[in-house]
Amino acid sequence: MIHDTTGKPFDHTAMFSTVFLESRYPEPDVLTKNTNMVYVRDNGVYIFPGSPATLFPGWDYGELDLPVQHVQYLGHRGTAVYYAAEMPSGTAVSVGTFYPNIRELYSVLSDDELAIASLAVRIVDFNRTTRFCGQCGAKTRPSRQERAKVCDACGLVTYPRTSPAIIVLVRKDDEILLARSPRFPPGLHSILAGFVDPAETLDEAVHREVREETGIEIANIRYLGSEPWPFPNSLMIGFVADYAGGEIAIDNNEIISAGWFDRDHLPDLPSRMSISRALIDWWIAEGTDRRA
Ligand SMILES: [Zn+2]
Repeated sequence: MIHDTTGKPFDHTAMFSTVFLESRYPEPDVLTKNTNMVYVRDNGVYIFPGSPATLFPGWDYGELDLPVQHVQYLGHRGTAVYYAAEMPSGTAVSVGTFYPNIRELYSVLSDDELAIASLAVRIVDFNRTTRFCGQCGAKTRPSRQERAKVCDACGLVTYPRTSPAIIVLVRKDDEILLARSPRFPPGLHSILAGFVDPAETLDEAVHREVREETGIEIANIRYLGSEPWPFPNSLMIGFVADYAGGEIAIDNNEIISAGWFDRDHLPDLPSRMSISRALIDWWIAEGTDRRA
C-alpha cells in the first residue's frame, strides 16, 4: 500500500515492490535450510506447479540438479533467505515452466512472488552487465557491505541503475487528459508519462512531458505514489495536476491522439497491474465519493 506524504491515501498495491524483503549485509556465508532459490534464465524465471503457481520448487522434487552458473543474494524475510540462481540460456527444467517475460506472470504468481521474480531478474542482469569496471575495464567483485560491484583496481563502485519516469493525471473540471501512443493496442488510452532527463527535477519533467506531448500547461502538481516498473528498470513516480491553459496539440510522434474524457465516456484503459490505471481508478473513485 502506498500513501502520499500529505496524508491523502492513494491505495495502490505496487506489484513490483519488495517492501517485505530486507537486504542484510554482509549476506549469509552459507545457504541455510531456509533458502529460497529463484531460478532465472535470461530475463525470465522458472515457475513450479502449485495454487497459486510458485517460484520455489521447495523439497517436493528433492534436490534439483540444475546447471546453476551464479548465485545472487536477494535479501531475507524473517529467517528465510532469498537468492537468484542464474541458469544458462536454453536450459530446460522438467518440473518447471520457463516464462521469458515476468510481465506475463501477473495474476499467475502471488504479488509477493511477482515482486521477488522482478528483483531476481534485475539482480541477475546487474551481475551480468557489471562483471567488468565501466571506468578501467578490470574485473569487479560484489561488495560485502551493500548491493554494489567494486573495482579494486580503480576504486569505482557501481550500483544497480534505476531510471526515474514521471506519470501524471491531468484534470480539467470533471475530465482527464488521456492520450494514445503508437505503441498501444488499438483503442487503448492512458495518462502521460516519460523519463526524467539528466539534471531535471521531477516538477520540471512533469511540466515538460505534458507540454511536449500535448501542448497543455499545468499547475498544482502533487505527488500521489510510485511504483517500481522493472521493464527493464524504471521507477514510475505518479502525480496529479490541474489544467492551467493551452489547446491540445499533439506531436504525432510519441502521441498520435489525445483528448479530454469524463468518467462516463472512458476509452480502453491500461491493465490493472500498472500505476497509470491505479491513478485513473483513484480519480474515478474520487468522483464516486463526490456523487455519493
Ligand atoms: Zn576500475
